[in-house]
Amino acid sequence: MHTSAHILNEQFIDNAWVPSLSKTRRPVYDPYRETRIAELTCGDPADVDAAVAAARRAMPGWRATPETCRGEYLEAIASGLEIRRRILAELSSHNNGKPLAEAYQDLDDAIACYRYYAEAAVILGQRQGTVEDADQPNMEARRYWDSIGVVGLITPWNFPLVSSAWKLAPALAAGCTVVFKPSEVTPLPEQVLAEIVMEAGLPPGVFNLLQGDGEGIGAPMSHHPGIDKLSFTGSNAVGEAVMRAAAQGVRPVSLELGGKSPILITEDADIELARDLVMAGICYNAGQMCSATSRLLVHERLADKLYAAIDAAMSELRLGDPLATETDMGPLVSALQQSRVQHYLALAKEEGLHSETPTLALPEHGFFVAPLLYREVPTTSRLWQEEIFGPVLCARRVANDAEAIALANDSNFGLAATVVAGNPDRAESIGRHLEVGNVWCNSEQVAPPQGSWGGMKRSGIGRELGDSGLDAYLELKRITRPLKA
Ligand code: NAD
Repeated sequence: MHTSAHILNEQFIDNAWVPSLSKTRRPVYDPYRETRIAELTCGDPADVDAAVAAARRAMPGWRATPETCRGEYLEAIASGLEIRRRILAELSSHNNGKPLAEAYQDLDDAIACYRYYAEAAVILGQRQGTVEDADQPNMEARRYWDSIGVVGLITPWNFPLVSSAWKLAPALAAGCTVVFKPSEVTPLPEQVLAEIVMEAGLPPGVFNLLQGDGEGIGAPMSHHPGIDKLSFTGSNAVGEAVMRAAAQGVRPVSLELGGKSPILITEDADIELARDLVMAGICYNAGQMCSATSRLLVHERLADKLYAAIDAAMSELRLGDPLATETDMGPLVSALQQSRVQHYLALAKEEGLHSETPTLALPEHGFFVAPLLYREVPTTSRLWQEEIFGPVLCARRVANDAEAIALANDSNFGLAATVVAGNPDRAESIGRHLEVGNVWCNSEQVAPPQGSWGGMKRSGIGRELGDSGLDAYLELKRITRPLKA
């Protein structure tokens, strides 16, 4: 794997590693051992210029490459990930702090996503030229889909290789050339994509990887007139900045932003299922999920019993080395993220919030925060309203479904929700009233590649995965002409 002895000071442009023009570097950490594991270039606007130029040169050829052929390249990328599955899962766990089992799940999701869009590319080819109703005598109309052009893809640190697969796979399938920037916090797993792309034989300039931070690479990408579309996953503050930048030149954006997702439990729910889904919704990836179900709305008849079950489950979690098989929860990704979450815990103290969760002993090192349940949190509390991005759960008891739905929808965000009810029909009918992009009824959070992912309200614009994920990189064109004489 190319990591230049863990000094990542080069950019992958035009299928070659070229020195970054930046003179500054930033450290990359192992969040469990709190040790520096690499040094990363901060990146430079001139790096972006070079990558965009390469992507523009490659664009006409890639756009004209038959869809079936693009599908074959995507299949080769999936295989490239598959043969490196173990090493990449370990690297991801090492760099992000997530338990190894979760990192394997990420890898499998990413591989499935490239495979799904390999097939989707073939289907796209078959759809080209679909005959439509011309609605005029002696005329005919056909429908075609063209790639949007050069796309800029920017991802965060919480699901390395997955967030990027959700963008890269459909973009390449659609015939777009790509300038991709992974998070500067977890740059290591995605570094390998360059090697895989070369092995797969993608033409130079189709895939360009820029390492660096928001200032060195992210902002210059957002402002670059040579990028035709931006697809961003990350925080709301940066998402808004990307959108503002994209207004220059009227360039489209897809945004996958934050969440404050609810989990609703009715009085007839199975309490063990409810507990397990609550736990998974707030402790998976140490709560660092945009779709974390961080607001619990439980029927008053079940509330005390469920709170006690959650406290007990939280106190039994094994926090530790993410690479050790017995570990249930790893550290947060960085000292910065740990301090952000600790800030909310201090705020909870100031606000006098009530928790009965037994305090877990933390490992001697690592950016850990112990999971915590706050009971009967006022809706005016910042902990109720804001995305915490850590294992901190806020709960309220409700009298009926109508109250639960009203409180669930009383949020600026609208990414996802879980409903646990006595039967799936009841759960689904509650789900129909929720202002979110995904509802899981009596189910864990699943996001298969043929599904859809994205939010309403301030959780973003557009959908990833499935057909909508491909459409995000396509322009629809209608051609109308006389019938042959
Ligand atoms: P972040 O917004 O700080 O960073 C995300 C990416 O944007 C990084 O690659 C970063 O370098 C880059 N960036 C920073 N400043 C930039 C700028 N001015 N212009 C362009 N790019 C810039 O987010 P984060 O801390 O890495 O991730 C956590 C956030 O991501 C949370 O708010 C979470 O909800 C969100 N998220 C959302 C989803 C989703 O699907 N909706 C998925 C994962 C994470």
